[in-house]
Amino acid sequence: MLDQYVEKLHSIQTQAQSMSSKRILLVEDEHSIREMVSFALGQEGYVIDEAEDGSSAELQIANNLPDLILLDWMLPDTSGLELLRRWKRKDALQETPVIMLTARVEERDKIDGLDSGADDYITKPFSVKELTARIRAVLRRGTGSLENEVVIGPIKLDLGAHRAYVNEESINMGPTEFRLLEFFMTHTDRVYSRNQLLDYVWGRNMYVEERTVDVHIVRLRKLLKPLNCDQMIQTVRGYGYRFSAKT
Ligand code: CA
Repeated sequence: MLDQYVEKLHSIQTQAQSMSSKRILLVEDEHSIREMVSFALGQEGYVIDEAEDGSSAELQIANNLPDLILLDWMLPDTSGLELLRRWKRKDALQETPVIMLTARVEERDKIDGLDSGADDYITKPFSVKELTARIRAVLRRGTGSLENEVVIGPIKLDLGAHRAYVNEESINMGPTEFRLLEFFMTHTDRVYSRNQLLDYVWGRNMYVEERTVDVHIVRLRKLLKPLNCDQMIQTVRGYGYRFSAKT
């Protein structure tokens, strides 16, 4: 009954929203974070709905279906993970991207979040700049003609088939290079340390030396060089790497 209602609402909203700004539901029990995020995203032109716990989040969703959900991991009445699992089972919300907000101690659980259908996660404390970059990346992914495709400049990744293309020409690369490029293309214009890249791309259960990152960066650049895309992977001296279409 509620699902039908939500679905109907969704189709009406989809028509209206294609002409207006994106609606983001922020589920977070910490007032100060809610205030900061809400203000910053409002400045960016997003429409923000706020919820301080799971039940008010459900109410907000019934009133206005969001284009994206920012979901805190620990909430007073339920866990963000539980909400995420529940929502991903609903037809109306299945395709709605979710970014989890996690505290550092909960970070090792992030893999669970991604397995349950979260599109990304961001660790507290985060900067507004970092958050808006993630939101943009996730929304961009969601609005592509094929949701399994990431396109930046001349580079296209087919995530389902694990194929990379530059100017529609297929490039052969190893699985690690592919994952690295995928991470970069979904997290553009932000610097990541070698350690962060190890965490995000290799996973924290792997023991790999930081130098390994450099080895794979070199390989990836080598593959992209003949296609003039190698300069998109930028070295930030003393810190790490950044992927940017702006060179
Ligand atoms: Ca919390």
